[in-house]
This record gives sequence, C-alpha cells and structure tokens, in this order.
Amino acid sequence: MLVVVAPDPDLPTDARPEVRAGDLAALEARITSCRRCPRLVTWREQVAAEKRAAYSDQEYWGRPVPGFGDPGARIAVVGLAPAAHGANRTGRMFTGDRSGDWLYRAMHRAGLANQAESVSADDGLALNGAWVTSPVKCAPPANKPTAQERNTCAPFLREELQLLADVAVVVALGGFGHAEMARIMEISPRPRFGHGSEATAPDGRVLLGCYHVSQQNTFTGRLTEDMLDAVFARAVELSRPGARAGLSEA
Ligand code: SF4
Repeated sequence: MLVVVAPDPDLPTDARPEVRAGDLAALEARITSCRRCPRLVTWREQVAAEKRAAYSDQEYWGRPVPGFGDPGARIAVVGLAPAAHGANRTGRMFTGDRSGDWLYRAMHRAGLANQAESVSADDGLALNGAWVTSPVKCAPPANKPTAQERNTCAPFLREELQLLADVAVVVALGGFGHAEMARIMEISPRPRFGHGSEATAPDGRVLLGCYHVSQQNTFTGRLTEDMLDAVFARAVELSRPGARAGLSEA
C-alpha cells in the first residue's frame, strides 16, 4: 500500500523516506487490525459480506483503510472516512468509486499522481509529494461516524501527521475533515470551513478547505473541476519550501 521513494543520502538517517516508510508501515499494521469501534466493525464487515450486486464476484477488504501515498509528502489530503463500496471494497482510500475518480484526476492534473485512474489497490497509482488519508479509518453507516468514533480513531491520524514530517499543507475535503484537522493542528480560534479557506497552524502548516468530492457535490455542480484544480494549485504553491513565512524548510 505504501509507495517508497528513493532515499536522499544528504538527509539525516531518521528523516530518510525509507525510515519513515518503516514507521508508517508499522502504523498501517496497527490500523488495519483495529477493532475498537464495535458499530463500525459490524458495519464494515456486514457491507463486505453482503456486497453490492455489481461487485458480487469481488472480495471486499472490509477492514480499516490506512493512508496512502508518498512518505515524503508535502501535501496531505484528508477526507472523512472510507466509502462502503469504494475504499471498504478495494482497501485503498478514494479507490473504486466516483469520488476517487474526481480526486485522483485532479491530483494527476496537479502533478501529484502518476495517473488519473484509481480503480483497485494494484492499479499502479503512485502519488508524488502527496498523501491521502481520513480522520476515521472504517466505513461508517450513512457516511456519519459518531463523535465518539471520531475521537477513538483520532490518535491514528495524529500519529500519521507526525510521521509525515514534511507535510506543509493539508487539504481538508469537507467540513468534517476540516474541523478534525483544525483540532489536530491546534489552530485556534477554530477556523471557518469554506471552499478555498486558509488557516495557519502554530507550527506553520497551512490548512486549506475544499468541498468534498462526494457525488452530492460533483453531480449538483457545487464542486466543479476548476474549483478543485484551484485548491490543488494553491496547495502546490504553498507547499514549496519557503513559500510562506513559518513553513519549515525541506
Ligand atoms: S474507526 Fe478507527 S478506531 Fe474505530 S475501529 Fe476503525 S480503525 Fe479502529
């Protein structure tokens, strides 16, 4: 699931991508075996057993879905939770559904993904300078995790962001991910969510708001490809080393 990039010999040993990739792999192992939220465990496994008719010949993942991407990422994309028949089926975030089509097409246009397609965990998709994850790692009924489930899962995302030490910009897809990231990034007072909203954390990392790539938004035209491209262009701009006072240098 992890994509490991070539090591830079000038980096200190503990900052090299392959060292971080090892830590991230250990975190991934803990995430994928987690059963702390009884309601979500029941739901993810029930969906995986019952399946949607169109995927009846496929084996669903049916477990927590870890983050995915480049351990040296400077941009993190944070959604809400795995989709029941998307990531909960394929085992990779935003993979195998319409939301993923929109997201990875935009990331490909922005130079953050090697291809626009995201159909299965072994489809060859690799991210360059980006990481995609979520505050809740298991598919929730009606895409609505409870506050308790969100809090139970939060330490995983917190640890993930700590290991992704080069992340300078977080793109939050939707209000849920935005609120959770504002909490984790310790941005106070809590920033308002809006498409294109920007807030800076005490450590200099920037939180960008973006409407979620859900079909509810993309089918209705609330979110257009131009709007998505504008957010990723801004994220790329802000993620360049030294692009903004307070951003840590690479
Ligand atoms: S949502 Fe998070 S804490 Fe809850 S069972 Fe899934 S991985 Fe574990």
